[in-house]
Amino acid sequence: MCPVILPDRAQQLATFFDFNGVLVDDEHLHFSCFNEVLSAYNIEISQRQYDETLLGFDDRGVFDALLPSAERSLREATIASLIRTKAAVYMARAAADLSFFAGAREALAAAAQRGPVVVVSGALRAEIELALSLLDASASVAHIVAAEDVHRCKPDPEGYLLALGWLRATAPEVPRSAVLVIEDSLAGVDAAHAASLGVWAVAHSYPEEQLRAHHPKKIFATLAELVGSLATRSA
Ligand SMILES: [Mg+2]
Repeated sequence: MCPVILPDRAQQLATFFDFNGVLVDDEHLHFSCFNEVLSAYNIEISQRQYDETLLGFDDRGVFDALLPSAERSLREATIASLIRTKAAVYMARAAADLSFFAGAREALAAAAQRGPVVVVSGALRAEIELALSLLDASASVAHIVAAEDVHRCKPDPEGYLLALGWLRATAPEVPRSAVLVIEDSLAGVDAAHAASLGVWAVAHSYPEEQLRAHHPKKIFATLAELVGSLATRSA
């Protein structure tokens, strides 16, 4: 096996990947898991409601938006319990049958050839680690910012700012201008802008026209189309 030869550290480019909807084709799985666990509360999410307002939120954000207001401590306990139950349902289904977008492993490998790769996602850490392992791509990812690491989900920039903090501590010679975010959701593109990071979008979850209104630098129809540009990009 050939060793990975990274460019001179001063010329490295960092890539921050969103996960669900960019690499992993599992938004339909999250949608059905949410509805399964919320049925106990007589709540049903429509596909349109999920696509228009909830996609891009982490689990806490989704449950917080949907549960009726209740006494604070009871609400917190309910949300914590729903997150655990949904995680168990998701992990069982994902372990048996998880789909990736074409080019997912190649995109991570191409980005890792240019510098550090960070996954910045609203998914739970165990879900991300399971998927990276199933994709045989764990070695391409230097760091993960998961749902457990942040207090506010996208479009808040907290996750991307945490990834920047890790990058400054690990590779201080890589400037913010050498970081590229890859996103699929409108909330994710907005989060990257709020962190003052350049962002490319893949139109896996939203039509290109809708993404264009949020001003990513580039839009690709599919991840497979984006891979070549990752390998040749400059800061
Ligand atoms: Mg996404």
